[in-house]
Amino acid sequence: MNTDFVLINCSIVCVDSGEIRRDMAVPVKHTDNGGVFGDIVRMKDFKLPSDCRIIDLEGKYVMPGLINTHVHLFSSGGPVKSMPVGSAQKLIFAAANSSLGKKTLRNLMKSRLEALLNSGVTTARCVGDFFYQDIILRDLIESGEVLGPRIKVSGHMISVTGGHGAPYLSMTADTPEEGIALVRKNAAQNVDLIKICVTGGVSDAKAVGDAGKVQMSLREASAICDEAHKFGLPVAAHAQSAEGVRIALKAGVDTIEHGSPMDDEIISLFKNNPRALKGHSYLVPTIEAGIPGMMDRKITGFSDILFENYNAVLSGMLQGYCQAAASGIKIGMGTDAAMPYVTHYNTWRELDYAIKYAGISPWLALKIATIDSAELMGLEDITGTVESGKSADFIVLASNPVQDISVLGSPLMVASRGNLIERPRVRKDKKVDSSLDSIK
Ligand SMILES: [Zn+2]
Repeated sequence: MNTDFVLINCSIVCVDSGEIRRDMAVPVKHTDNGGVFGDIVRMKDFKLPSDCRIIDLEGKYVMPGLINTHVHLFSSGGPVKSMPVGSAQKLIFAAANSSLGKKTLRNLMKSRLEALLNSGVTTARCVGDFFYQDIILRDLIESGEVLGPRIKVSGHMISVTGGHGAPYLSMTADTPEEGIALVRKNAAQNVDLIKICVTGGVSDAKAVGDAGKVQMSLREASAICDEAHKFGLPVAAHAQSAEGVRIALKAGVDTIEHGSPMDDEIISLFKNNPRALKGHSYLVPTIEAGIPGMMDRKITGFSDILFENYNAVLSGMLQGYCQAAASGIKIGMGTDAAMPYVTHYNTWRELDYAIKYAGISPWLALKIATIDSAELMGLEDITGTVESGKSADFIVLASNPVQDISVLGSPLMVASRGNLIERPRVRKDKKVDSSLDSIK
């Protein structure tokens, strides 16, 4: 096994133990499964191999690549007034529903994966995209034809008729049997997980309060979870109200996306959920998706209905986040990239918001965004820490992220499975960033 390169004189951000290990040497070796970390040792104990590249990172920090467990690839996350719904979504669907259209969509989705990777995200979970193009891209990345983050994908979401994302982004089911059939359809396409919508969402809200309104029944959600679990597929549930979260958890979902304020029953269902694959469920708050609700409406141009729904969802997510952190519920990091003002290169902002608005420590934010998210995705043996034998997924930072988390926004290097990007570049949307930076 040859060593491809060695990072020397670096400080490692150990997200599991919450410490910085200084003056370290990190070898990266090539294997049949891509680049993995070799034996990581102190510089004084390190024998410089003669036949490999040395990268001196004096004064720099190395940490595991970020893991974003809630993204979509169908849109850029630009500053639109709302997501395409109704006729606009129909138009995208019609335009993309041809071989040329799918190829164009796939190329756009690929550019968003590149933005994720170049901004330090080495693993991502895609929770709803069109025409199973996410599956094609996953397989191209796995085969090494496309350099991207490692991804797990859900294909089309499952909703009820008239529900969140329906009828284009979401396929629809109105009985337990129809739900089971859609799980089988997605499983036959070789998805990695099933995404369901238990409540309405902000993007297609038609009235104040629609975002959290329960749409899927406990019977329907339970049938979907049972069938998905038979295939070994975890279920992610979009749920933005306490009632929606309760139904989803009782049905046995493995992750709650977005979330809401919690009562004692919800907290205990998260921590002990015998119907979930692991016996407990995770929360994936996506603060970034709610943040536009805090922005000046002169900038966003949001309607009253959108504005109210944004704010109800944001305050519910933040309360849920605080309660989850305080009660030991497992949390994953997600941004809902593709939603308005949620670009694929701004994952670092989710950690920033979690520290600022949910009151968690920088160390916990880093742990959630790496090792805990790896565990959520069932990848804890493969990625999430800088550790001998694990996939060489890492980022190099100019300073200590624990002291200033914003350094995550400009990694000096990114590596995915040992493939080193030495000058990572992303095309930024100035309007998005200046609008987000203007929030006080
Ligand atoms: Zn989403």
